[in-house]
Parts: sequence; structure tokens; C-alpha cells
Amino acid sequence: MPQLAQRMGRAKPSAIMMVAEKAKQLKAEGRDIISFSIGVPNFLPGDHVYAAVREALATDSGQYGSNRGDPAVLDAFLRHVEPLGLTGYGRENVVVNVGAKHSLYSLAEALLDEGDEIVFPTPYWTSYLDIADIVGAKVTTLPCPPEQDYKLTPAQLDAALQSKPRVFLFNNPSNPTGMVYSREEIEALADVLVKYPDTWVITDDIYNRMVFDGLGYHNFVHARPELRERVVFADSLSKTYGMPGWRVGFLLGPAEVIKAVVTLNSNAITSVPEIVNAAAVAALSGPQDVPNAKCVEFQDKRDQVMAVLESIPGVVCPRPQGAFYVFPDISCAFGKSHGAMRIENDIDFCNALLEAKGVACVPGSAFGEPRALRISYTCPTAQLAPGMERIREFFAELT
Ligand code: PMP
Repeated sequence: MPQLAQRMGRAKPSAIMMVAEKAKQLKAEGRDIISFSIGVPNFLPGDHVYAAVREALATDSGQYGSNRGDPAVLDAFLRHVEPLGLTGYGRENVVVNVGAKHSLYSLAEALLDEGDEIVFPTPYWTSYLDIADIVGAKVTTLPCPPEQDYKLTPAQLDAALQSKPRVFLFNNPSNPTGMVYSREEIEALADVLVKYPDTWVITDDIYNRMVFDGLGYHNFVHARPELRERVVFADSLSKTYGMPGWRVGFLLGPAEVIKAVVTLNSNAITSVPEIVNAAAVAALSGPQDVPNAKCVEFQDKRDQVMAVLESIPGVVCPRPQGAFYVFPDISCAFGKSHGAMRIENDIDFCNALLEAKGVACVPGSAFGEPRALRISYTCPTAQLAPGMERIREFFAELT
């Protein structure tokens, strides 16, 4: 048999998907499973999105579209980001891709040659590492443990940028920690970035509409406008609008970088389908009551999850202020047992929890932090309290 490309030796299937699959399998076997594993929103977009799709179907051309994205979507996105302080951009600064994952993959292709350095904080979203590995980049991770609220400090960033990495990749609000950087924190990091003109900045901010406690979302370009020529902002319809399967992601950034991604699109995907374009325009420009209501609901769910975690002796959990994840440090369970199941690490913990209580979570090592565990609280509301109660019981039963 002919060989696969060497890069596939480095590519790994998503750890999150593996947990989700195992939970699905147990469910199919008749087990009562509550899944806190996969980060999918459990809601659908507003009716106006479906109405726009039906209308687009009636006039569908069936043709290829633009490699950059339909002008109506580009304009809708430009208007959508204005309230975030991302103003003064034009269509040349935007491209529509097949989800943020595709955007990030294309950026890795566009910005990183083999052996180039990419720097990002730990905990990180799993695909960052895998995408960097596939393109053969040299990865430097910056440990941000729970003791510093999982947040990158300006001193850490400064030290990391001295080697002039090609790319600094940042994520705010964070998957897996739910952390949100305050205005002051973003400004302090932006002040460091200004000093290192050889480094591109990718800021994956797809959860920017899901920020709690009135904290507000802040970004580097708004903080320091001179960074505009080096910062690429990634957004997506997936989480905000309950549209992960529609596969729409956006990049906003310097025209030269965006043009490179458009060139990749012309050779990889050609375009996003016409019907999907119509859905995207409707989601971005139509009533925002669904995402607004979901943000309130997620804040409430965050409170419920945190109340349980805070009641468990030994568990440490920085309080998330966005997205729909919590990332407790569960290392107090290491060295203990649940029945006959010995727990030495996060993977043992997740397996034992799933086996004993039917609750699926993702081990922190999938995100580079083996002391923790990710709970995604997008499940139906009725499952949240029972699921958290099972976690509380599980801890209480450890010996
Ligand atoms: N970035 C982060 C931080 C994510 O959590 C996800 C989805 N889990 C993505 C990117 C990819 O999103 P999309 O569905 O737009 O590809």
C-alpha cells in the first residue's frame, strides 16, 4: 500500500470527539448518560434565519459563489463587529470560511512555514496544537495554571515574544476555561504586543457575545489601534447563533493576510453555499434575541455549576465569566479510588466518572492541563442539576 504523508503521523483525532463517542455508545447500550463533554449549543437560530433560507431556496442559482464570501455577508459581518470596537474595516479585510476551525487551519497554512514558531497559552483549545502539528510548526505553550486564573500575564507574553515567533495565538473568552480578559488585562497584553512587530496575532474570539456579569468583551485592536496591521480576529456563527452545523466562520484582519486565505479558499472550498450565505446574513443582521437570551441562560447555568463545585472540598475552580465551560482543578482526587477504580490522573477520573455515574466530561490533558476537567454546560437545563449532583456524589464516595 502507498504511504500516507508524513504530516499525518502527527495528526490526531479530536480527544473531545472520542469522549463524546464513548458517551454515545454507552447511551446506545441503554445507560443513563448525561453529557457535559462536547461544546455544542443546545439551541437553534431564530425563525427569521429559516425564513431567509426558504426565500434563498426559491431563487437559488445553484452556482459557485465568491472565494471571499458573498458581499452581503461581508457587509453584514462588518456591521456586526462595529459594536466590538472593530471599526474602519472594509470588504478587503473579511473572508467567510467553513467555520472557525477552517479559518484557523487556513491561517496556519497562510502564516506558518514548517519549523516556524507559534506561541499560545495553556489551557488551549485542542485543535490549536493539532493544526500547528499538521503544518509542521514549532509549538511553544505558555502555562497559565488555575493559580493565575488560567490567564496569560504580560510578563509571560513578553518573555515568549523575545524569540520573535511568527504567530501568537490567543483565545478570549476561553474554551476550555471560560475565562474572559478584562479591559485592563487586554490593554496590558496589547502594550506588550506593540513591542514585537515581527509577530502576527491571531485572536480566536468566537465566544465574544457570551460574556457574563456585565464584564464586556475587549480586544487588542480596539485597545491599541496600531495593532490592526498584525491582528487577525476570528469569529463564527456556531456558538453565538446555535448554528455549528451550518459551518460559517469569519476572519477580519489585514488585507494581505485575508487575501492569502481567499487564495486558499479558491483552491480548497471555492465558496460557502448560497443558502448558507443567506442564513448568515439573517443571523448577523436580524433580531438578536436568541443569542441575547442564551447568554443570560448560560450565566445562570454557570452559577448553578459553580455553586456545586464550590461545595466540593479540595476542588479549585476559577470562576468563568463567559462561553459555556468550567474547568475545575480536580487533582485532589488523584491517588484516591472510586470503588475498585483507582484514579491516578484526569483520564482515570473521567473514565471512572463515566463508568460509575454516567457523566461524560473531557479530561484536562486534552487542553494541555492534566490537573483539570472540562465541563460543558450546554446540556438541556433539566439535566444540569442531576449531572452536577452525580459529580458531587462521586467526589464524596472517593476513598
Ligand atoms: N475556536 C474555539 C475556541 C472553539 O471552541 C471552537 C469550537 N469548539 C472553534 C474555534 C471552532 O468553531 P467552528 O464551529 O466555527 O469551526
